Amino acid sequence: MVQLSNDCFAFGGKLMTIDEALTLIATRVRPVAGEERLPLLDCDNRILVSPLRAPVPLPLFTNSAVDGYALRGADLPQDEPRSFPVTARVQAGAAADPITPGTAVRIFTGAPMPQGADTVFMQEDVRLEADGSVTLPAGLKPGANMRPAGEDIVQGAVAIPGGRRLRPQHVALAAALGLTHLTLRRRIRVAIFSTGDEVVEPGGPRGPAQLFDSNRFMLGAMLGRLNCEVHDLGILRDDRAALTAALKDAAGTHDLVLTSGGVSAGEEDHVRAAIESVGSLVLWSLAIKPGRPVAMGVIAGTPFIGLPGNPVASFVTFAHVVRPTVLALSGAAPEPLVGLPLRAAFTYKKKKGRREYVRASLQDASDGSLEAVKFPREGAGLLSSLADTDGIIELGEDVERVNPGQTVRFLAYPILL
Ligand code: AMP
Ligand code: MG
Repeated sequence: MVQLSNDCFAFGGKLMTIDEALTLIATRVRPVAGEERLPLLDCDNRILVSPLRAPVPLPLFTNSAVDGYALRGADLPQDEPRSFPVTARVQAGAAADPITPGTAVRIFTGAPMPQGADTVFMQEDVRLEADGSVTLPAGLKPGANMRPAGEDIVQGAVAIPGGRRLRPQHVALAAALGLTHLTLRRRIRVAIFSTGDEVVEPGGPRGPAQLFDSNRFMLGAMLGRLNCEVHDLGILRDDRAALTAALKDAAGTHDLVLTSGGVSAGEEDHVRAAIESVGSLVLWSLAIKPGRPVAMGVIAGTPFIGLPGNPVASFVTFAHVVRPTVLALSGAAPEPLVGLPLRAAFTYKKKKGRREYVRASLQDASDGSLEAVKFPREGAGLLSSLADTDGIIELGEDVERVNPGQTVRFLAYPILL
């Protein structure tokens, strides 16, 4: 199935803004075909195919929200406390008879409301008398402390929209509605490569100018969090022919091919030429720092994304290009990144016209609010700058300077995945 048409975006060679890239992805990347029906315990973080309508109301029946005494709204004490004989007792799971007017019913949390009763007094608020009656205070409103059937979800209403990436609370909702299985999109198959003559397998033999591959493990873990089926295809040498053959092969058997490294403009950066020889480029450079060189293309209908080799650039561009592509291929509704306004506790200068990301930690400010502290160093190769911070601060294209006290947009790491 063709997820991305070859002519979907005429590559003009200029820097593309993140918003343009997001529009390109949203309009051109289609969900892959295939669904499966899975038991609820396997549904977390998966994508629901179609809207789930509630076959029953929630709650299923009108019940008490507290331990206490139920009575009819018409019998509520008006101006002063009043005593009522306690004529019945209904506990959770038991059936209740209709209430006798002028009496109270001992009731427990989750027990069905006796027919006719609509108000419950909390047991802490009543006085039990020696003769077994109960004295209830004045002032409670009719309908207090009970949960009407359907107050949470009305029968027939959409309980979960189609395309939702399920959280544990959605799984709970499906269970509460009595369902045992859900129909989900199949997981997408993603091939992942590292590139570079200097990159070697962690723990393997290493020459003096070689480094252990870290990107593949970071990107694999990030894809895992997005619930992709990740296929680790190892490290590719800086060799155009080998690269071309490997990418073409991977595209034939995967829904997305992801690489890191080799996308800059140096003579040993062969990814661009490889894509152009077996497919076409739709995106070349993003107006973003870190991360300017990012390649997106199509190989025989399969999307390809080439991220920059520097780990921080790889991480940031994953969030802006790979994440929305994976969600779209997976059939998930778009999940725009939610940035929180936070006070900057640093000074920073940047160039106009590109979006920049600053790694930052959260810190308690003296007035009890939170502020963002910039990681002291800026290199795009510093893994510690990702490991030791809480998120990234996004500085828009128009920003040229950040001063302490200014409000900035903070993207916490958990929301990037
Ligand atoms: P490149 O994008 O190929 O020009 O690489 C930019 C920088 O990232 C170079 O310093 C590379 O050594 C480094 N790099 C490339 N791939 C990886 C990788 N898989 N893990 C860690 N660093 C990498
Ligand atoms: Mg390289």
